[in-house]
Amino acid sequence: MADALGTQAEIGVIGGSGFYSFLDDVTEITVRTPYGDPSDSLFLGELAGRKVAFLPRHGRKHHLPPHRINYRANLWALRSLGVRQVLGPCAVGGLRPEYGPGTLLVPDQLVDRTRSRVQTYFDGEPIGPDGRVPEVVHLAFADPYCPTGRAVALAAARGRGWEPVDGGTMVVIEGPRFSTRAESRWHAAQGWSVVGMTGHPEAVLARELGLCYTSMALVTDLDAGAETGEGVTHEEVLKVFAENVSRLREVLFDAVGALPATEERDCLCVPAHALP
Ligand SMILES: [Zn+2]
Repeated sequence: MADALGTQAEIGVIGGSGFYSFLDDVTEITVRTPYGDPSDSLFLGELAGRKVAFLPRHGRKHHLPPHRINYRANLWALRSLGVRQVLGPCAVGGLRPEYGPGTLLVPDQLVDRTRSRVQTYFDGEPIGPDGRVPEVVHLAFADPYCPTGRAVALAAARGRGWEPVDGGTMVVIEGPRFSTRAESRWHAAQGWSVVGMTGHPEAVLARELGLCYTSMALVTDLDAGAETGEGVTHEEVLKVFAENVSRLREVLFDAVGALPATEERDCLCVPAHALP
C-alpha cells in the first residue's frame, strides 16, 4: 500500500486520455494489485500544485467494456499510490428531456442495476497491508458520494460558466448494450436522472477503501425513453462530446486544485473499518 510506494499521488482521476495527454510532464507507471491489473498504466502528473494520478477507465485503447473493467484493481492501484480523493468523470444518457447533451450532472444518489460485477473487497479473503481477514462488513452507503467533492465539482463547473445539475440519481446498468425503451421509461418513472454503465461498483469500492469519490456525469445523449422527435444523430453526439470534454477537463482541473488536502478531509468517506 502507500507505505511501500510512498505518496506518488494524492488525487485520482478515472477518465480517458483526453484528460492528461497534453500535460507537460507525465510519468507512466505500472501498478499491480492483489486483485489483478488495473485497466492500464497510471499516469502521474502535477496540476495546481497537486499530485494527480490519471487512469483510463476503459484502457487507453478503449478496449474494456464496462462489465470487464477490473474496478477493484483500479481503485486499489490508486490508493496504493497515496490517492485519497477520486474524481470520476463519466458519460451518461439523460433520462429527462431537460437533461440533453452537454448537461453536467453531479449525482448525489446511485442505483445499482448491474448484475455480474464484484462489488466488495470484503469477501472473506485477506485484505490490507497486514493481510488480516476482516469480520463481515456491511458498509454504510446511504450517501454514496463525497459531499466535499460534490461541492467542489459544482463550484468548479459554475466557475467555468457551466450550470451543472446539483444532485440526482445515476442508475448504473450492466451494459454493454443500451436500455430498451421500456427499461428507459421505467428508469425515468422511478425519478432517476441519468443512466450509465461504470458508476457502480466504482463508488462503493472507493468507499470501502476510505477514498472520497465524486462522480461528474456528462450527458452525451438522451436515453431511448427520453427521446423526442427524431433525436440527435450520432455525429451530433460526437460533436457535443468533443466540445464538452475540453470544458470538462477545465472543470476537472479546477476541482483538483480546490479539493482539500488529504489530512484535512472531514467528510463521511472514511468508514470505521478503513485500511490504515
Ligand atoms: Zn469525502
